[in-house]
Amino acid sequence: SEIATTPHVAVVSSPGMGHIIPLFEFARCLVTLHGLHVSFLNITTEASTAQMQLLHSPNLPSGLDVVDLPLVDLSTLAFDVCKELSIPVYSFCTTSAAFLAFSLYIPTMDREIEGEYVDLPEPVRLPGCSRVRIEDLLDQVRDRKNDEYKWYKYHVSRLPKAAGILVNTWEDLEPIALGAIRENPVYTEIPTPQIYPVGPLIKDIEPLTASDVDCLAWLDKQPTDSVIFIALGSGGTLSTQQLTEFAWGLELSGQRFIWVVRLPSDIACDMASFFCAGDGEAINDGREMEYLPEGFLERTKEVGLVVSSWAPQVAVLSHPSTGAFVSHCGWNSSLESVRCGVPMIGWPLYAEQRMNATMLMEDVGVLTKPVVEPGQKTIGRLEIERLMRTAIEGEEGKACRRKAKELKESAGKTLSIGGASYESLSHLAKQWKAY
Ligand code: UDP
Repeated sequence: SEIATTPHVAVVSSPGMGHIIPLFEFARCLVTLHGLHVSFLNITTEASTAQMQLLHSPNLPSGLDVVDLPLVDLSTLAFDVCKELSIPVYSFCTTSAAFLAFSLYIPTMDREIEGEYVDLPEPVRLPGCSRVRIEDLLDQVRDRKNDEYKWYKYHVSRLPKAAGILVNTWEDLEPIALGAIRENPVYTEIPTPQIYPVGPLIKDIEPLTASDVDCLAWLDKQPTDSVIFIALGSGGTLSTQQLTEFAWGLELSGQRFIWVVRLPSDIACDMASFFCAGDGEAINDGREMEYLPEGFLERTKEVGLVVSSWAPQVAVLSHPSTGAFVSHCGWNSSLESVRCGVPMIGWPLYAEQRMNATMLMEDVGVLTKPVVEPGQKTIGRLEIERLMRTAIEGEEGKACRRKAKELKESAGKTLSIGGASYESLSHLAKQWKAY
């Protein structure tokens, strides 16, 4: 058959929607735009509904096969097995180029710096690139004796072994970080793998559920650029106290909103929030509404919509009424926001999100953040009120919106024929076909 002679690419995603979404979109592009045959290997124990809908949708293009695998540990093999079989391996980085630069620099930091990184008196200087504030360092590198740090270092030190590194970003979003990695031998050993920015690859608007349809119908009735969308990724949630303050701040601001509310959790960590694995599912039992201040739903019903656990994020961000996005700054959410031209309010929770938020604010100019005192665990209602007003009505918010709209244009261009990301992927596809 035709499929049997078409060059075949295996795309392997680590578990978690944050990885599956961009890699699946990448797989789809390889099939529909570049005529390759792709097997998408999904390593999973228990697929969530969101995952099932995405990967087992009836509308997948022919030439894209999804294969569910049990939770096998590929971490120590993949490169070696493929080498034995003479199959070239490429890495796909689902985070920013800035974070890739940081990751590639870890082995050097590990050799050159004594003691803990968190005790450094100054931000970490990435050669040719921006600086990383100590308070933005991700949890995995805050304790070098920790196993998580050792694994992270091990994996990033193997990245340069790849035939190439694909990054879900684009030239105009991160020119400095991309340039730094390419030009600075400190990031990769010889021979330096090629860096291919192929983004922003974001998920397609998914099939809508009845509650999604209601949500979009509600948006249809709101003015342009007026609604604040609040959603903290596939698993982010707030502490009980933060949820209360957030609700009051939002109400006091008088702004329109769609808020994806989840059951609060009081276990852990920064900005009074934590990650609840399971793509919003474990917490989807309706009890979360009981944690909102008494009368909140009634008092805000003219201006706001509260959604339980999961909203059709890309559809909401694409809607002209959406005017700002309170986000945990996961890289997919960040790309979706700029791809749709929506400015962000940063509410970073875990992983590299603090670094993303700083970069999106200082280098890109699409994000505003709450003012947080060192050690402060909960952000008060007055600060939240200020932040929400500023995002929609203030000058700072308007400047971020202008920048986000510029980037929307730029993202559209880079993904079109002749655009840098499109051509980067096309170049790879040609190589793979010739292989
Ligand atoms: N998402 C969604 N609806 C929600 C919350 C999240 O569709 O209510 C999607 C969002 O569009 C994004 C993904 O979940 O594609 C979250 O990925 P991200 O990298 O932002 O964060 P992570 O979940 O990995 O922390």
